[in-house]
Amino acid sequence: MDFDDSQSEAVFRAEAREWLAENARNFSTEGLEAPDDGGDPEALKLSQAWQACKADAGYACLLWPKEYGGRGATPMELLVYEEEERKHPLPGHVFRIGLGMAGPVMMKYASEEQKARYLPKMRRGDEVWCQLFSEPSAGSDVAGLRMRAVKDGDDWVINGQKVWTTGAHFCDYGIMVTRHDPTIPKHMGLTFFFVDMKSPGISINRINQISGESNFCEVFFSDVRIPDAQRLGQVGDGWSVALTTLMNERLAVGGAPPPDFDQIFDTVCATELESGPAIKDASLREKLADWYVQAEGFRLTKFRTMTALSRGQTPGPEASIGKLITAKKRQAIASFGMDLQEMGGVLMDGGAVEDSAYQDAYLTSPGARIAGGTDEILMNIIAERVLGLPPDIRVDKKLPFSQLPTGDS
Ligand SMILES: Cc1cc2nc3c(=O)[nH]c(=O)nc-3n(C[C@H](O)[C@H](O)[C@H](O)COP(=O)(O)OP(=O)(O)OC[C@H]3O[C@@H](n4cnc5c(N)ncnc54)[C@H](O)[C@@H]3O)c2cc1C
Repeated sequence: MDFDDSQSEAVFRAEAREWLAENARNFSTEGLEAPDDGGDPEALKLSQAWQACKADAGYACLLWPKEYGGRGATPMELLVYEEEERKHPLPGHVFRIGLGMAGPVMMKYASEEQKARYLPKMRRGDEVWCQLFSEPSAGSDVAGLRMRAVKDGDDWVINGQKVWTTGAHFCDYGIMVTRHDPTIPKHMGLTFFFVDMKSPGISINRINQISGESNFCEVFFSDVRIPDAQRLGQVGDGWSVALTTLMNERLAVGGAPPPDFDQIFDTVCATELESGPAIKDASLREKLADWYVQAEGFRLTKFRTMTALSRGQTPGPEASIGKLITAKKRQAIASFGMDLQEMGGVLMDGGAVEDSAYQDAYLTSPGARIAGGTDEILMNIIAERVLGLPPDIRVDKKLPFSQLPTGDS
């Protein structure tokens, strides 16, 4: 494999770099209190303005086909663009579910009219989308979800609860999996819809997080009516529709946000211990070496994933390996960075060192080890699909969902 840009990738990188240099400064999040949370109306407006600017210049939806307003770019071009964009303090986080999951699903399953109505606004960030899959008793085992969908004329009536829905409180639409038939095995009884988040009968509670943010929600559905026209895929095909989005999710969350090796290396170099410069300490150097190997391994593995994509293959289990490594590494680096700051490590507000980057990461990194597949689930995937080990025992796979033993039975 060749890790250098090809000639056309180098041209694309130069174009993107120049365009970002001219435009990114107008949308900088530097100094903003809550640039990515989405709950802050000003921050959301800034994200939307940046998305619209990218859409006008052809950088909003690189992988989307041209017929839907995308650039029809290659996965390698996406990687190149993301590398360049990451050099600027920019918003953008809130559109990932729409652009990476809802968009591709709508392209595949929605009617032409629906595509014309929803995709342009999704692309420009005028309408924001969320993902309503997880429930209190269905996270890793999302096929065990209970939200009921009952057909009534041309509508479906939806009752139940979703949880951990990122951005539900400000999103306009959501993609959602429901159970239309509890009398058949769990994967077969699922049906997929998109829903207007302002529909009567939907109520949303924000969940307070340890980081001080509250960008996840509980979403309650009480006799919510969804037109049958908003069903994506056939009745009973909900699992296969959901799988398409989950593959995209593993890729979407597969990046390595800072603090990473470079930041902790700089911190160690700048730290004096009682015994002398921290960088001379053998045990610290060992830790640094370990994180360097992981960071490089991730970078190269991501190239492997992107190469597979360039060849038109479905993203493989490498994406799972990437998230498993990077989420754990970020948590360990954050914890270690705070230790190096000694007493200063406990400060987050006034007086915090390095803009409290390690403290913020320490509080948010555990979530990354859960979102998009927990560590254990990813290890199961790697064990089964990469190493070929015997699969997890799934005794409930063929039983009617309503006959599965539960806490109440
Ligand atoms: C930051 C963040 C954002 C999220 N955003 C969304 C969102 O927008 N929309 C949405 O629908 N959901 C979202 N989620 C929910 C997320 O998908 C679930 O939290 C995740 O799938 C885990 O499910 P759970 O929390 O129910 O834990 P459980 O599945 O109950 O797992 C509990 C523990 O058991 C372990 N475990 C479970 N099954 C197995 C197994 N077979 N083998 C070994 N160990 C196992 C898990 O690893 C974990 O340690 C988000 C979560 C986070 C943290």
